[in-house]
Amino acid sequence: MVKASVRRAHLAVFNVPMHGHVMPTLAVVQELVDRGYRVSYAVTQEFGDHVRAVGAEPVFYEAEPCGEAPEDMAEGVAQAIKVSMSTLSQLESAFASDRPDAVLYDVYAWAGPLLAARWEVPVVQLSPTHLPYDGLVEEFFSRDDLFQIPGVPGLANALAEFGVPGGARALLAPPRTIAFFPRAFQRRPETVQAAEAHWVGPALATRSFQGRWEGPQDGRPVVYVSLGSQFNHRPEFYRTCVEAFTGMGWHVVMSVGAEMAKTGFGRLSDGFEVHASVPQLDLLAASSAFVTHGGMGSVMESFSLGVPVVVVPQMAEQRVNARRVEQLGLGLHLPREQTNVQALRESVRDVIGNSRITEAINRMRQDIDDGGGASAAADIVEKVLADTPRVTV
Ligand code: UDP
Repeated sequence: MVKASVRRAHLAVFNVPMHGHVMPTLAVVQELVDRGYRVSYAVTQEFGDHVRAVGAEPVFYEAEPCGEAPEDMAEGVAQAIKVSMSTLSQLESAFASDRPDAVLYDVYAWAGPLLAARWEVPVVQLSPTHLPYDGLVEEFFSRDDLFQIPGVPGLANALAEFGVPGGARALLAPPRTIAFFPRAFQRRPETVQAAEAHWVGPALATRSFQGRWEGPQDGRPVVYVSLGSQFNHRPEFYRTCVEAFTGMGWHVVMSVGAEMAKTGFGRLSDGFEVHASVPQLDLLAASSAFVTHGGMGSVMESFSLGVPVVVVPQMAEQRVNARRVEQLGLGLHLPREQTNVQALRESVRDVIGNSRITEAINRMRQDIDDGGGASAAADIVEKVLADTPRVTV
């Protein structure tokens, strides 16, 4: 008798071309690859190195560049829906002869659940942002109703037409979702409608594609400044930082994005470094304070590595994060309109070595540890596969 050959299960990850969405997934992919799964990762060319570095096979799609990220999150979602819908047929063809056994999809990568429904395979949602809570539509999108966002009615029709379980309801009440931050950081967790919500916390992968950063080792506290990858075209803000931090005895590293790095900031005094981008985890490992826009990835990485934050949010979701940081005592919230030389200098001075903030960060680190990270996320994916009878794991 011929023994049935055992096939490695094939997982497909669907994501949008955004650092804040791709980075948090990498450690989970690495863990799944280490456990013997074959992982295909649908993303744009720009992220090929990222996903190869963790052992996934990239499946590239073309998407029109969106230009500068809109501060209005409703506009951002409308763009993401456009990207998802425009990539649907490319991705359906790309996977036609190599269908996955399960689909993992980022909250903005709707081609994932649509194609999974067509292929009749299970899904796991991956969320780098707050799970939908009562009031999210008002706080994130400044709308009373999700359906007022351009593109959402069309997406809802597609979800129904493809037979996605729950249809449009899945937008605010996903069936099974993994959040890359602890429940303790979730806004209004008691109102989350997801059928299965798993707050596994952040999972940090080694980022060999970024190179390394080593500090000057001169004993000066390192202050790291970054507005993330989307809302970093802010020349005035960086100039204010330079003025605020000059002469403070700190080593200051600013990650400013490719455009701003080209512009430059004139002659900087000793102790300043300006880069288009940096290996952020190396920076945080050496930093005493992080001046950040408050992207979920950045604040979670900062807490994981024990660094207090000064959050200067640039858009609605980051304002929600900044308020959580303030409520939980993890750092300071400096609203953009109150940002000036003195406020920045004093805020950074106040968070460095602040024992109350350190205690709050230690509690958050415990919550992060308890979440289980990449290993807990991989367990959830394995359970989904085990519950799907025709997959041989
Ligand atoms: N990042 C990085 N180097 C940089 C700037 C950002 O590695 O110079 C990474 C950062 O570690 C995080 C992601 O890019 O994982 C940014 O995500 P976040 O959610 O903080 O903000 P976004 O860029 O989405 O606004």
